[in-house]
Amino acid sequence: MDITIIGCWGAYPEKNEATSGYFVESEGSKILLDCGSGVLSRLQNYCLLEELDAVIVTHAHADHVADIFSLEFAILILMKLGRRSKPLDVYVNREARGMMAFSYPDNMRVHWIGADTELTIGTVQLAFSENVHDIPCLAVKLTSRNGKTLVYSGDTGYCQAIIDFARSADVLLIESSFYDWQAGLMNGHLTAGEAGRIAALAGAGLTILTHFPHYGELQQLAAEASNHYDGPIRLASCGMHIHL
Ligand SMILES: [Zn+2]
Ligand SMILES: [Zn+2]
Repeated sequence: MDITIIGCWGAYPEKNEATSGYFVESEGSKILLDCGSGVLSRLQNYCLLEELDAVIVTHAHADHVADIFSLEFAILILMKLGRRSKPLDVYVNREARGMMAFSYPDNMRVHWIGADTELTIGTVQLAFSENVHDIPCLAVKLTSRNGKTLVYSGDTGYCQAIIDFARSADVLLIESSFYDWQAGLMNGHLTAGEAGRIAALAGAGLTILTHFPHYGELQQLAAEASNHYDGPIRLASCGMHIHL
């Protein structure tokens, strides 16, 4: 399984960058996790839109879905031009149904998903878990045929569910929206220290912090997470690639 960070910012993208978007490729299957602002443009550095198999949408906040309707037009045009032969499968949190108005069902095949959904894309198995967030949001687990696991937290506050769900993940891609000094100021997101505690309690392997704030020194997030977690911690960056 190969993971490429397309975007790593919370709320809005920094210049020439993107908010949430993570591209996963495994044995020929090409899967995009979230499609935030700036993701559609940057994704094309790593994946032809003709070849994208599926998109997973964790929740309906703009920093996770802003580009999905532009992607819908891209698929429409590529299919009309004959450059793409199959619709794009889009797996969307069913709680977002009233907020996600797709227009071209022949091009975007929408599947509504929840924490009870289990699905297989190519040889990748996917499972989901419910987070604590101000609108319903799903965490996602991808398991490759050789048993390697990636858990992507989506947006979440601190909860037992994400600890249980991330248990023994080989790679934990976890939101770190706040510095520790902001603890308790805003629910539904994690401080870096909380992200580190989750990684430690879950016994996760490589932990990648993402969904960054637009202020402060991001290295401080890694330092705060490492106060709780002894394993490897990295800060996500646009274009970062991980093979497992
Ligand atoms: Zn977000
Ligand atoms: Zn959110």
